[in-house]
Amino acid sequence: MDKISVVVPCWNEEEALPIYYREMRRVMDRMRNSEKGDAPEMELIFVDDGSEDGTLAIMKELHRADLRCRYLSFSRNFGKEAAIYAGLKNASGNYVAVMDVDLQDPPSLLPEMFSILKREDYDSVATRRSTRTGESRFRSFLSESFYKVINRISRTEIVNGARDYRLMNRKMVDAVLRMSEYNRFSKGIFGWVGFRTKWLEFENIERSAGETKWSLGKLFRYSMEGITGFSVAPLSLASIVGVLFCGLSFLLVLLIVVKTLVWGDPVSGWPSLACIIFLVSGVQLLCTGIVGQYLSKTYLETKHRPIFILKDSSEEGEQNEGA
Ligand code: UDP
Ligand code: MG
Repeated sequence: MDKISVVVPCWNEEEALPIYYREMRRVMDRMRNSEKGDAPEMELIFVDDGSEDGTLAIMKELHRADLRCRYLSFSRNFGKEAAIYAGLKNASGNYVAVMDVDLQDPPSLLPEMFSILKREDYDSVATRRSTRTGESRFRSFLSESFYKVINRISRTEIVNGARDYRLMNRKMVDAVLRMSEYNRFSKGIFGWVGFRTKWLEFENIERSAGETKWSLGKLFRYSMEGITGFSVAPLSLASIVGVLFCGLSFLLVLLIVVKTLVWGDPVSGWPSLACIIFLVSGVQLLCTGIVGQYLSKTYLETKHRPIFILKDSSEEGEQNEGA
């Protein structure tokens, strides 16, 4: 019999969690009624990413009332990527979905996603939003630019507007779990592992309750994660700019020598010299900075720190460290 595990990362979501559960229960009931004997078994894995509010208490309550609900609780906030990894690692179903708790990933799509995987030749059904309503112009512009840049410099396709909401079969989940890197960027990991993915589109939905956890600074760090994780193109920037500057300086030297010999004016040109020094040292610092970015990621990877640490869970014997 089929079983769907739904991984739900939650960080300070005491308001959104009950609303989510109510909606999800409706969807599960509908699936049981419409698919009759074929209805898959369900399991909801709530991952408490170090919440400081009543999120964990609500999860425990849900687990007591409905055994389909399980929970994992982190010792601190490890980030959504770590929460997804922990959920996938502990999922027992032969199909696994990843879904946000704020209903921006509509649970009502789940039956359709499941029937696509059952009937058609796909390993995963993923979703993307077709609009960005409710998001500021500036934020949309930054996101669009990020996707343009990363898709130019990375060979892994990173779909614009893709959400983390998707349903995968066991083969793909196991492949994702084998990517046990510390610096995780799911949108890239899902693309990198390959497999046949069908994309569904829906319009952007606003949060059911609570507030977004993504500040601009956090989004910027996340996009750097994506670029350093899935492209090494910036590293070649230093070489390319270096070659360009060598060529340019050669021409300049020629020009200056000729100018001095013909007109004999050695002192003027001071301002241009100052500008060139500023420019070149700026470019050098930029390139050193890029190397530093990659070095710091490498440094963290080589430490082999666990991706998450559990402090509590609904059952004993959970995989309590992601390494
Ligand atoms: N989330 C998490 N850990 C974090 C940040 C977010 O587990 O450090 C969860 C959050 O509870 C939600 C999902 O990730 O279920 C998406 O977060 P949010 O809605 O804030 O992001 P947005 O939809 O605005 O991109
Ligand atoms: Mg959200």
